[in-house]
Amino acid sequence: MSAADLQSELDTLREQALLRTRRVVQSVCGPRVMVGGRELLAFASNDYLGLAADPALIAAACAGAQRWGVGAGAAHLVSGHYSAHESLEARLASHVGLPAALYFPTGYMANIGVITALAGAGDAVFSDALNHASIIDGVRLSGAERHIYPHLDLAVLEAALAASRARRKLVVSDAVFSMDGDLAPLPELLALCERHNAWLAADDAHGFGVLGTQGRGSLSHWNIDPSRAAQRMVYIGTLGKAAGVSGAFAAGAPQTIEWLLQRARTYVFTTGTPALLAVATEASIGLIEAGDERRAHLRKLIARLRGGMQGRRWKLLDSQTPIQPLILGENQEALRVAAGLLEMGLWAPAIRPPTVPAGTARLRITLSAAHSEADVDRLLGALRELE
Ligand SMILES: *Cc1c(COP(=O)(O)O)cnc(C)c1O
Repeated sequence: MSAADLQSELDTLREQALLRTRRVVQSVCGPRVMVGGRELLAFASNDYLGLAADPALIAAACAGAQRWGVGAGAAHLVSGHYSAHESLEARLASHVGLPAALYFPTGYMANIGVITALAGAGDAVFSDALNHASIIDGVRLSGAERHIYPHLDLAVLEAALAASRARRKLVVSDAVFSMDGDLAPLPELLALCERHNAWLAADDAHGFGVLGTQGRGSLSHWNIDPSRAAQRMVYIGTLGKAAGVSGAFAAGAPQTIEWLLQRARTYVFTTGTPALLAVATEASIGLIEAGDERRAHLRKLIARLRGGMQGRRWKLLDSQTPIQPLILGENQEALRVAAGLLEMGLWAPAIRPPTVPAGTARLRITLSAAHSEADVDRLLGALRELE
């Protein structure tokens, strides 16, 4: 095997319309971005509240760098844990209403760390078929017995939980599914886990900051009693989407967090997250809590897009979140529509397998509180022309 051999595999990907490319963005994250010297109206980021380039967060990051420098210098358990991290963890825990939290460098690492710390050989993991790749990888890496249940099929899940003789059971689910935008019924999942003495790990990458009172996330959205949840639940929030920064955290009972601190290898064996990011993120939590107007505007945009697509040939999936996938079917069709939009100065990414199941290629339209109603109308008009 050599680099030349990879070329034929790359050629195959190209023939299948599966070759992915990066677009180089020449401006800050926002609804309008410069790409190739051209301004595009983008429906492509997960910056749901429009905070990624917020002046207050830029100022916090600069102040954080002045106060703490740039690098943490070592892993958190060695000498890379600073009071900025300590303070952020307390703030994150209280924001989602759980007793304790552990700050991770990324959501990918949080999921892998949490799953492999809670399940290993001799244990069983139960995972929704549409869970995020980082969950899939965590499940594989854990070495636990794998049960993949059909998307949101709690009857199949319950039967598998009841039949399992594993020493320890862990149910893991996206709280908001990243490519479909629908919600996992966390109260039902928690009740199932209670009945079958299982752990529940809920990945709220797309609910944190967006759902619930003051953007407190999916636990708040579903009115789940935090003290009950803490008994057997690990909540995972990510900080590069609605929070507009980078990173992630796991939250739960103090013992759970202490266990993750001891055993989550993606936490233990990596350099501490730059403290300046912890400072910016803590400022972001303040904006999230004060962000009811942003969330109300976002909900209005979601309703406007959905209303505008009603009765059209192309269907949006049934999603009430800022993730509004337009199902186009074949890869080529998704690429054609994305390319057509680009010609008109609009950017919504085509998502193809393996990110989504074959035959369900789609435009993953994402809305942000930084969009205007006129922006949504422009997208609706462009889609009408391409239909
Ligand atoms: C984006 C995402 C992640 C990964 O988070 P990062 O901080 O980007 O690594 C994990 N889970 C879900 C559901 C996501 O959408």
